Amino acid sequence: MNKKGECEYCSRLITGKPVNKILRNKKHVYCSEFCFRLYFYGVPTISYDNLQKMYSFYCISVPMQDFRKVLNGLKTEED
Ligand SMILES: [Zn+2]
Repeated sequence: MNKKGECEYCSRLITGKPVNKILRNKKHVYCSEFCFRLYFYGVPTISYDNLQKMYSFYCISVPMQDFRKVLNGLKTEED
C-alpha cells in the first residue's frame, strides 16, 4: 500500500529525514514524529489535500491591523 518515500500517515512525500519506527516487527516510515504519534494513537488519517481543504474552510488568515476592519465590516452588515 505504502509507496516508497511517502509518509504512512499523511501520504506526503518525505523530503527531509524519514522517521523510521518498528511496530509489531514491521517497519514503518513517517515524515515526522508528529505523524508517527497520530498514527500510533489511532487518529483517523487526514490526507494533505483534505487538510488544506479543511484549513481553507475553517481558517482565514487576517493580519491583526485588518482584523478590526473585518469585524466592523461584519457589524455594519448586520445593522
Ligand atoms: Zn506524515
